[in-house]
Amino acid sequence: MSVASGLPEGFNPQSYDMIVVGAGYAGAVCARSLAEAQGWHVCVLERRDHIAGNAYDHLDDAGILVHEYGPHIYHTEDDRVHQFLSRFTEWTDYQHKVLANINGKLMPVPFNHTSLKLAFGDERGERLYQKLIATFGENKKVPIMELREKNDPELTEVADYVYENVFLHYTMKQWGKTPDQIDPAITGRVPVFVGDDDRYFPRVAHQGMPKDGYTKLFERLLDHDLIDVFLDVDARDLLSIGDSYAMVSGKPFGGEIVYTGPLDELFDLDLGALPYRTLDMEFETLPQDQFQPVGTVNYTTSEDFTRITEFKNMTGQVVPGKTTIMREYSKAYEPGSGETPYYAILEPETKALYKKYLDRVRTISNFHPVGRLAEYRYYDMDGVVASALDVSDELVAAHS
Ligand code: FAD
Ligand code: UDP
Repeated sequence: MSVASGLPEGFNPQSYDMIVVGAGYAGAVCARSLAEAQGWHVCVLERRDHIAGNAYDHLDDAGILVHEYGPHIYHTEDDRVHQFLSRFTEWTDYQHKVLANINGKLMPVPFNHTSLKLAFGDERGERLYQKLIATFGENKKVPIMELREKNDPELTEVADYVYENVFLHYTMKQWGKTPDQIDPAITGRVPVFVGDDDRYFPRVAHQGMPKDGYTKLFERLLDHDLIDVFLDVDARDLLSIGDSYAMVSGKPFGGEIVYTGPLDELFDLDLGALPYRTLDMEFETLPQDQFQPVGTVNYTTSEDFTRITEFKNMTGQVVPGKTTIMREYSKAYEPGSGETPYYAILEPETKALYKKYLDRVRTISNFHPVGRLAEYRYYDMDGVVASALDVSDELVAAHS
């Protein structure tokens, strides 16, 4: 691999078999897969000054490994994804735990057996728990919106408590809307758990943190003789979309293009901007060993921020006498402001707008939108890797 800042004098895109826009999971996985499987010479263009996309981590001024774009915890049910990524890292056995700060009291989220007893007292909490088991079964995950539909006074009481104290205010802060006003799949990511497992991703097949961090994982993923990475390059300065072909540096490009940025940006938002939420992240280093008992505490009834993450609790890094925490404040994303579009706002109208942009690039057979931005999806890391592996397989098949 070569990594450079900016494009060299005499840069000739036509000398590459594939151009990849973005050095996050989507781009890096495609680059590696095609370099390996097809022996393609791949050019990766990344507008940031680093690889790894939103999974980027680095040591801060206090020497603490922080996640620049928000806490990232690897978890997957997908064995193919796990096998692929495990070529580039070992994993720690970190099991992510989250507590909700509910009016000053800390309770496990997803809301579970322990949370029920903390909220309703031991005896009544146990009775409600037995009712949940009788209704849904033990070790079952029940989305809050599904629990709310049950027509039973005791289950309604549990549902109301969880809705009001875990979901309502947090969701208002995160999305500017109530849980009823957003896609139920979003709150369904954190279902009530009818059981004792107090992990954020209960009973998931694989979870942990990359042993040397995410950026190191990406360094190895991109470390291939046939991959050239150019940082600080906005691909829009080179790339334009015609009716049936993509142009690079003013000429139709003959190879394949994997694009992992937002689709609307390619067309100067001419049909309207695809809406996103962005985050202001406030990092603070404190002169103490530890700030909170778990990786993340969600503030579900108070504060303007949604959650506080303490990185040492997740990475296992030992740095005595100091710790770095980060508060997340969510707000509407302003295109062109330099903010990062973190969360697609998925509603019928926004999905329809996305489809209009997608229809424009579908006619271009060598142009492949992949990833959380380019597919306008609420993907976790594993979902992006799976999608990138699928696209890579299709490309291999098309060229074999
Ligand atoms: P990105 O990581 O966004 O990479 C796209 C890259 O393309 C970026 O580096 C961007 O700079 C570059 N780019 C875009 N346009 C251009 C252009 N025109 N020219 C050049 N470069 C361009 N997932 C989990 O599994 N677990 C978690 O705990 C988790 N936590 C998260 C927390 C937060 C706050 C957020 C926002 C996401 C989290 N995710 C988590 C999701 C995870 O970040 C994504 O699934 C994954 O990083 C997406 O990879 P990607 O390659 O699709 O996009
Ligand atoms: N959520 C909530 N309270 C919580 C945790 C999650 O209301 O304590 C809701 C909220 O709407 C959030 C969604 O569930 O956006 C998904 O949560 P997740 O932790 O998966 O979000 P992410 O880590 O992707 O920001």
